[in-house]
Amino acid sequence: MSAVDEAAAALAYATLNDPTQPPPPFAPERHAAYLKRVAADAGALEYALTEYMRVSGVYWGLTAMRLLGRDAAAELGGPALVELARGCQNADGGFGGARGHDSHVLYTLSALQVLALLGALDRCDRAAAAAYVAALQQPDGSFCGDRWGEVDTRFSYCALAALALLGRLGDADVGRAAAFVDACRNFDGGYGCAPGAESHAGQVFCCVGALAIARRLDLVDRPLLCWWLAERQCDSGGLNGRPEKQADVCYSWWILSVLRMLGADHWIDGARLRSFILKCQDLPDGGIADRPGNCPDVFHTFFGVGGLSLLGALPGDRPGIDAVFALPEDVVESLGLEAQTVPRNDASLLDAWAAERRGGGAAIVK
Ligand SMILES: [Zn+2]
Repeated sequence: MSAVDEAAAALAYATLNDPTQPPPPFAPERHAAYLKRVAADAGALEYALTEYMRVSGVYWGLTAMRLLGRDAAAELGGPALVELARGCQNADGGFGGARGHDSHVLYTLSALQVLALLGALDRCDRAAAAAYVAALQQPDGSFCGDRWGEVDTRFSYCALAALALLGRLGDADVGRAAAFVDACRNFDGGYGCAPGAESHAGQVFCCVGALAIARRLDLVDRPLLCWWLAERQCDSGGLNGRPEKQADVCYSWWILSVLRMLGADHWIDGARLRSFILKCQDLPDGGIADRPGNCPDVFHTFFGVGGLSLLGALPGDRPGIDAVFALPEDVVESLGLEAQTVPRNDASLLDAWAAERRGGGAAIVK
């Protein structure tokens, strides 16, 4: 029995939710094997049920493999994945979740991220993709997700990130896009999906990410928002998305990435969060679940590995993940992608709050 198996066996299910119990070791080999298995198993029920977001699954799997220090293109079949992403582009310039599916800005971003990861952005019709995304913008600066007209701040992030990847950010009215996001800011410093909607950590990532790309982080109430985000840490060490909700591994990414953008990732207890993510590993079979003891999936494997990357908890010399673009840092660098970030402020939480309230907070750089 390997050391990992021994640790898994010793860690009874009941202790997984006990924050005083030490976590099992990180098992990168098993997670890589899990990702390869999921990518190859086209006959599995899960594969069929998730067809509508196939290209997003490819993005999560490829990025997680890269963060694990693996040759993702070689191990997951790069040329076939380039063809899969290209095949999702429709005549309107946008991409669907799979070949033959209607275009949507969510899948357009995923497809462009896949092509960026594989160095193949030139293999799609970039001008048509940019025109599709830019045309989704509404007079108030918001973006629809597709031609059916639903508006959500998630789509603001997807649109600006997609245009940045295409080198066509100027095709949108970035100023008005930022103004719409600002209109969705709440009394608690967080953001919802539309003006007046409840703050939610997933939306906070989309809104702050959009403002980082738009270079308007000055619009964020940084101390208030970082306080609200830090309050998301539960007794288990994991993070939840809203008050009174259970911790979930995906918020390790949604929240920690925003705190990184705003220079405050040390406002949560990184060691306790790391312990929670490690307890969400499926140690016999690989993969990471939303919470300890649950079944793993590609989405939470990506966000768990992404969270560990932001925590500096992945062993070895490998690319980190860019908090704004959610891509390996070397990919972001090679594409020349730029976004605004705030330098880390090492003052204590209350000192930082007080300084910022006095107008003497950290200057926004980049
Ligand atoms: Zn989740």
